[in-house]
Amino acid sequence: MKEAVRNSGWMREASLIGGAWVGADSGKAHEVANPATGEVIGTIPVCGKAETRRAIEAAHAAFADWSGRTAAERAAMLHEMARLIRENIEALAQMLTLEQGKPLHEARGEVSISASYIQWFAEEARRINGDIIPSPWKDRRLLVTREPVGVVGAITPWNFPFSMIARKLGAALAAGCTIVVKPAELTPYCGLVWGLLAEKAGVPAGVVNILTGSSSEIGGELTANPLVRKITFTGSTRVGKLLYEQSASTMKRMSMELGGNAPFIVFDDADLDRAVEGAVAAKYRNSGQTCVCTNRFYIQDGIYDAFAEKFAERVKALKVGSGFEPGVEQGPLINEAAVEKVEEHVSDALGKGARALAGGKRHALGQSFFEPTVLADATADMSVAREETFGPLAVLFRFHDEKEVIAAANDTEFGLAAYLYTRDLARTFRVSAALEYGMVGINEGIITTEVAPFGGIKESGMGHEGSVYGLNDYLNLKYLSVGGL
Ligand code: ADP
Repeated sequence: MKEAVRNSGWMREASLIGGAWVGADSGKAHEVANPATGEVIGTIPVCGKAETRRAIEAAHAAFADWSGRTAAERAAMLHEMARLIRENIEALAQMLTLEQGKPLHEARGEVSISASYIQWFAEEARRINGDIIPSPWKDRRLLVTREPVGVVGAITPWNFPFSMIARKLGAALAAGCTIVVKPAELTPYCGLVWGLLAEKAGVPAGVVNILTGSSSEIGGELTANPLVRKITFTGSTRVGKLLYEQSASTMKRMSMELGGNAPFIVFDDADLDRAVEGAVAAKYRNSGQTCVCTNRFYIQDGIYDAFAEKFAERVKALKVGSGFEPGVEQGPLINEAAVEKVEEHVSDALGKGARALAGGKRHALGQSFFEPTVLADATADMSVAREETFGPLAVLFRFHDEKEVIAAANDTEFGLAAYLYTRDLARTFRVSAALEYGMVGINEGIITTEVAPFGGIKESGMGHEGSVYGLNDYLNLKYLSVGGL
């Protein structure tokens, strides 16, 4: 598969700065490996501050022309990008699985939703309307316009290397912003390919710039440079806080999609089969490496044993293997450090009295494969109760009543996604309102769509991606007071 991807025409081993594909100034390159085999796929330039500054300057230079185009012109190019993505879904999905590891069918899903995000923002580009406010003065008109914020710096993670860029780049370009993107170093090709897509769609040079290399140098320049007016970041809360701090001196607009610690609450009256299916999807998708993946399962007394048994049976049947193997439902984790974190959480939980119902150790396939794992009888003193595992480990907590489970679910600094399963309508609204989270799945384990606002509260971040709200983060309001009329 490596050769097929290398020969597909979509894999670039250079950074895109101001319309030129270039290596690092130092000539340094870094190897990228397939997480399923450890085999080297190719190399990427290790860019630093100087290249980042040039990319920012190119984006700044391109801003006047790009923001001055009509919304219809920008929309047409975004529509063309969406078309190109759909036309090449197989090649792009193969590249994603090769560098990231997820099963090919999940990779196709990610590429497909990326096209949907780009299409959505192409459509929204034409609806960046303003307002006219009834004036308190007889001789004045008060207008509100919405203008692009300027150059955007985007830093993205490896778990959804293609779609995390789609949500940011689509919104930025639709709004009339230009952008400098730094994809994760573990999955750079699904980032660099956006430069190619933009070029093929006719987006002018300098509007989209993509840099690989030192995250602290690129991140440092993006946050310090006054020409960058906004930072959009998806990744860990630790790095998010660092970028927030670094951006303070130039007061940039910030959008942050950070870590989560999602609770999944199943009440006694839930549809058991539906809850089990939702639990599998909300936990094991992408081998548990999504920020909205369930981290804590809270199951009510009356349904606990039945849920645990059915869920463990279903999890034991999950097929683990290379993402390219037909029928595989769980691929490798991204690297050794990810496996070690799951191991730590498992041994900590077992040491504090948890019971293994499925899995529990590294998979016989070796590399970074881990068995899909279910542990019962979890307690609040376990590491997994507080920290995001980001791996295929499900832990089940038992609860008795609604009040108790709401308190437990909210007992975290995070507030991204939460899930609840019940057939009681009043409880649905009561519990949803009480959950301190940005998104709630009700009788649903997978909730992401381009038409709904994706975003968290508390230390899970700020701002929203996708939906009619998704453009707000890329636009400034300007108030015009027109007098002497
Ligand atoms: P994860 O735990 O999901 O890997 P990270 O926050 O470590 O999340 O990484 C997300 C993105 O942030 C990646 O592109 C990574 O290179 C980048 N990153 C990591 N450290 C820094 C930093 N000090 N400054 C800027 N970007 C960083």
